Amino acid sequence: MKMEYESARIAKVTGKCPACEDYAEKNSTCPPKIAVMACEGACARGEVARRAANLVAHRLARDQTVRICLGGAFTKDTGQRNLVRRAEKVIAIEGCFINCSSRMMEGVIPELRPEIVRADLCYNLDLPFGIDEIPDEMFTVYAYKVAEQVVRDMVKPADPCGSSKAACADPCDGCPPMSREQPPDCNFSRVQKRSPNGAGIRVPS
Ligand code: SF4
Repeated sequence: MKMEYESARIAKVTGKCPACEDYAEKNSTCPPKIAVMACEGACARGEVARRAANLVAHRLARDQTVRICLGGAFTKDTGQRNLVRRAEKVIAIEGCFINCSSRMMEGVIPELRPEIVRADLCYNLDLPFGIDEIPDEMFTVYAYKVAEQVVRDMVKPADPCGSSKAACADPCDGCPPMSREQPPDCNFSRVQKRSPNGAGIRVPS
């Protein structure tokens, strides 16, 4: 199927957000950290994705990952976009099938191939739009569930040779086949690949 596109014209800004740029500079490590971006989070499903991304980058895998400001990385070519551009792995935690963060960033970095996690497939509940309809504790529970799976499957997957890399650079006989080729998919079938029309499709577990 032929992919269709729409063009957007983004006004450039001259000013910079010092906090955002400082964070980007501080986290422009060598080797690069895994970039973690997420849906903006306006609705309850997006809120889970947003919180999960924050938990991964600020609590569960601080040394390995860096949190991307989607608005900053998408709208201006400065530190945040560079974090995404230079990362060897980019994880997009999406709130729904719209896959907004990965599609937005692929628009400004065409060669980008983020690993997409559909957070809404991790919990078996149809959340409403309004975040005021969900108790805060439920957001915490769901966000932790998503974040812990992301860290376990995509940031620090364990394999028999003790490598913490998603794909073992020096596979031994004890490595499962998966670790030699690609990061393992999560148990809840929430790692998504992009279908030709841009919608996420489920990857069989
Ligand atoms: S509707 Fe989808 S894209 Fe919009 S905030 Fe919710 S999860 Fe994100």
